[in-house]
Amino acid sequence: LMHLTRKLIEIRSMLLSIDQSDALKLPSIVVIGSQSSGKSSVLEAIVGHEFLPKGNNMVTRRPIELTLIHTPGAAEEYGEFPALGLGKVTDFSSIQRTLTDLNLAVPASEAVSNDPIDLRIYSPRVPDLTLIDLPGYIQISSMDQPETLKDKIANLCERYIREPNIVLAVCAADVDLANSPALRASRKVDPLGLRTIGVVTKMDLVPPEQGADIIAGSRYPLHLGYVGVVCKHSGKKPRGESNALVARQAETEYFGSHREQFGSKSNLMVGTDTLRRRLMEVLESSMASSLHGITNAVQLELEEAQYQFKVQYNDRRVTAESYVAETMDALKARFRDFTVDFRKPHVRAKLKAMLDDKVLNVLEQLYWSDKRTPELSAIAADAKVKPENIEPYWRYKLEAASSLLTKSGVGRDATLLVADGLRALIDSIASGEPFTYHPRAAERLIQFSHMLLRDRIGITADQVENCIKPYKYEVEVEPREWELGRTNAVELFEKETQMCEDKLKEIRKRVGGSRRLTNLMAYVKGLEEKESERRRKRLSGVEEEGESPDLNGDDYRYPPGQVLDARHAVLCTDRLSILKLRLAALKSKRCKAGPENDVFCPEIFLNAVADKLAYTSAMFISIELLDHFFYQFPREIDSRLLYDLDRREIVEFARENPAIRRHLDLQERKDKLEEVMKQLNSLATLRPDVQPAPRRP
Ligand code: GDP
Repeated sequence: LMHLTRKLIEIRSMLLSIDQSDALKLPSIVVIGSQSSGKSSVLEAIVGHEFLPKGNNMVTRRPIELTLIHTPGAAEEYGEFPALGLGKVTDFSSIQRTLTDLNLAVPASEAVSNDPIDLRIYSPRVPDLTLIDLPGYIQISSMDQPETLKDKIANLCERYIREPNIVLAVCAADVDLANSPALRASRKVDPLGLRTIGVVTKMDLVPPEQGADIIAGSRYPLHLGYVGVVCKHSGKKPRGESNALVARQAETEYFGSHREQFGSKSNLMVGTDTLRRRLMEVLESSMASSLHGITNAVQLELEEAQYQFKVQYNDRRVTAESYVAETMDALKARFRDFTVDFRKPHVRAKLKAMLDDKVLNVLEQLYWSDKRTPELSAIAADAKVKPENIEPYWRYKLEAASSLLTKSGVGRDATLLVADGLRALIDSIASGEPFTYHPRAAERLIQFSHMLLRDRIGITADQVENCIKPYKYEVEVEPREWELGRTNAVELFEKETQMCEDKLKEIRKRVGGSRRLTNLMAYVKGLEEKESERRRKRLSGVEEEGESPDLNGDDYRYPPGQVLDARHAVLCTDRLSILKLRLAALKSKRCKAGPENDVFCPEIFLNAVADKLAYTSAMFISIELLDHFFYQFPREIDSRLLYDLDRREIVEFARENPAIRRHLDLQERKDKLEEVMKQLNSLATLRPDVQPAPRRP
């Protein structure tokens, strides 16, 4: 039978860890009693050690789930707080201190907490028992205790004294049982006293006849009976002897000296030893009788869990470790997939697009805004003009344009462009699933990849700048490159033309038709002419009076938004005409002829230069930035995301993902239920069909 209780106590704590629902609960003994009824003294007498918090203001503030584990033959006695991970605590005064700290940690405003403290005590001198110590009932709320404290404690006790628990109601012999809050509470939930044991303390404080009368229980009968005890600490403690031992002797002495009332003929239950035995018997039979019900309940829960596990996960098991490893692998794979976008041809195309913009800027700055540029087309059209005898003006212009392009900070711009691409890629990976569930890991991922990039940007930019340096002095263009540059330039100009035309179309639509736009543009041009006229006059010192108000008045003929549109339209048409002119040039015989005509066709030359710059930049960015990053990144994932985690953090990480958390929870529930079921089945052979023990005859 001993073995049964022991097993069932184990099963009980496993069930508690599965869930807190009442359906899966094996009975425990719940100790209730009013303050100073001697509750702590009784518990300590059972354990044989002083270990509970003491002190005036030191009522128990949290339930203590006390599991006693009988360890026959063991040399040492020790306690364990499984939730705290302190290991074995062999010093009982240290257990007492820990309990005091845990109780004091409950804020004064709350006074009591529902959160139980799990304490296990292993000793050859304790019986296998589970006891729950609850805060003592208080009669009068003292000044510094909140008004609701009494209710709070009563509620807490009520929750614990429900079925199937056994109630140990502690009452003092010198207080009328009618006034015992413990008995009153137990009667509410167990009117027949079928699962209530009375403990009458302080038997030494009343005459033995009166004491015997109380524990005979004729006034308030309890099916499981009363046990009378004396647990007073003597105060005068002889050296080397424990308080518990002294108290025990006092008890033996007391009952020994009143054999007439309490001797074996009296059929009364007295003494701490009797109490322990009684508790074991009652717990055993209560557990045994719960066994059938609990086995059925566990079986049902298990079937449900197994069914869900099959349906939801097709019996696929996960571990936190495997989830973390898979997540990291997926991250690397995802990254690898994206690296296609960073192969050299892709990078080169990106850089070329950036340089094309630069080329257009240079052309605008040096050619399109130059009123003489149309001349260039005219000169080029004249077949007699040789490139070498063209006016030096155009030669200088071409050199200026080329140098503007090559010295525009290509190294930096190109490197930053690629680095920004990488950064955007990492950011998008970090903000997608499953990193939405792992904000801290996402943060770390972003941090270390940005750092990796930051470390390389300077070096790479310098290297690229260094390698394009020769182009700053001279660029040789091969005929093949020239033709390619020409096609590119034509394409670029056609795209630019298209953009301008689209913009014009859009403006035309917005202002209400081409007639209207033509009027608007004429008006704007008129304004501009007047404006420049005035500027000229002002510069030459001729002052006019009263001119401008007239002009301002004019401004109100059209809404300002349309005037602005018209200004843009003027710019677009100007741009279009120069683009058309140059497009014609690019398609002319002269420009098609070859690189010796560079001075006539700056667009082609600049395009060819841009192409060389893009090629060189892409090559060195690949070596200095990309290769390095692609090599380092997966390793950094391992060292900064993966190996950094300890077991607890791995579980934490996995559980951040709600789908995995549900999976793990169900799997763990199923496993535990299976284990409990196995244990319950192994008990079948041990199981004696014991009914709850009636009061001893
Ligand atoms: P709790 O508040 O219910 O935990 O009560 P305690 O166990 O702290 O006991 C309250 C007081 O009653 C203490 O001073 C104990 O020494 C005293 N006491 C407890 N049991 C006995 C007993 O059997 N006889 C006598 N005379 N005093 C006792």
